Amino acid sequence: MTKNTFHLVSLGCSKNTVDSDSMAQLLLRDGYQSVEDPTKASVLIVNTCGFIGPAKAESYRVLGELAEGKKKNQVLIAAGCLTQRYGIEVAQKVPGIDGVLGTRRWMDIVQVVTEARKGKHPEPIYHLPEAATVGSDENGALRVSMAGASAYLKIADGCRRPCAFCAIPLIKGTAVSRPIESIIHEARELRDAGVRELILIAQDSTDYGHDLGMKEGLATLLEQLTDSVPDMDWIRVMYSFPGYVTDRLIDVMATRKQVLPYLDIPLQHAHPKTLYRMKRPSNMDWVHKTLGKMRATIKDLSIRTTFIVGYPGETDEEYQALYDFVKETRFDRVGAFQFSFEPGTTSAPLGDPVPAEVKQERYERLMELQQNISLQVNQSYVGKTLDVLVEGFDNGISIGRSYRDAPEIDGLVFIEGKAKTGEIVPVRITGAMAYDLTGVLVEQGNLIKL
Ligand code: SF4
Repeated sequence: MTKNTFHLVSLGCSKNTVDSDSMAQLLLRDGYQSVEDPTKASVLIVNTCGFIGPAKAESYRVLGELAEGKKKNQVLIAAGCLTQRYGIEVAQKVPGIDGVLGTRRWMDIVQVVTEARKGKHPEPIYHLPEAATVGSDENGALRVSMAGASAYLKIADGCRRPCAFCAIPLIKGTAVSRPIESIIHEARELRDAGVRELILIAQDSTDYGHDLGMKEGLATLLEQLTDSVPDMDWIRVMYSFPGYVTDRLIDVMATRKQVLPYLDIPLQHAHPKTLYRMKRPSNMDWVHKTLGKMRATIKDLSIRTTFIVGYPGETDEEYQALYDFVKETRFDRVGAFQFSFEPGTTSAPLGDPVPAEVKQERYERLMELQQNISLQVNQSYVGKTLDVLVEGFDNGISIGRSYRDAPEIDGLVFIEGKAKTGEIVPVRITGAMAYDLTGVLVEQGNLIKL
């Protein structure tokens, strides 16, 4: 085992991925090497997720496995949202953890690792400062060296929304936005490093800039980003909040060519009573009107959303309203989750009354409905040409994503023939599956556009 090596496991969402990238870069900068094999590492790090039950269980499982296999001269650091939320309890549940670092201070990873490796600590080191931060300029430089053709760019962290089922505000604190200059600086660095797709992430991107006194902060950010980094091919916005997709934002998305006609807007339900109990915007007229306006204004708009089934008190009638809404609206992409009881959230007093088998049945019916819709929507692309960001090649097939596909959560495009990884190439769609498309490379000479 080489002296200064680390093995980092990143769990949870894209925000955690960004923090893991940055922690890895801080260690590399401090002379460490990253290793794939945990047995070859002097430092083991798990960037945990503490959002809902299944995610917490996975975090404990991964920590437990590494702690069990840990050698005498190895240290194990638990970082991320599980530690931010449960602190000392995590180390009590998993003997063998040497350091506990909260998600809000990921940038102190070198300090915690150095302290832990000094040894002679009867108790694990706890580093759980309260203050939320979203990283500053130097992170841009840190992260650039890890980027492929696509990179997440965190524009804010934390959340001020009151969603009753959600523990994120408990973990991350209220929303803190990064200054625009800092975001543009990092975007330029990523562009110079060859990034073609910038994926803007936050807990609620539509709330960007409110803490900086900005009105319509996201629309302003997109305008300044597209003006300042005109050669960034694609800019994708994730995590919009219903009620905050404004006319100006719609206009910017419709007129700024780099901003992909892709909207990720978790709606969580479609019955006003359920939404009201979830402490979510429950004005379904607004939802219908805004989705209609967006589809009318933004050419070829692709919409992704997510829903929760089995929320406390969800009646058959409320569920049917959700089912009918999905059937009628025909989203491109739908993610569905079964309600997960979360202690400490404002929905906790409601308990978890919907039986597991009812949740499961509602979940399966909704996913089956959406699978058929997704296939039909995909079939409507056969014969058309889409620009595809190529991300790999395997077995004679190039694999990539179109503007309709966010990484890790949406579909893929399988292209016959070899296309250069990192390039954006025109692909004529020849086939459709429930989530993915197939196609052939279009010879530049005889391009057929949408
Ligand atoms: S918007 Fe709601 S669901 Fe999303 S992170 Fe904030 S509180 Fe949680």
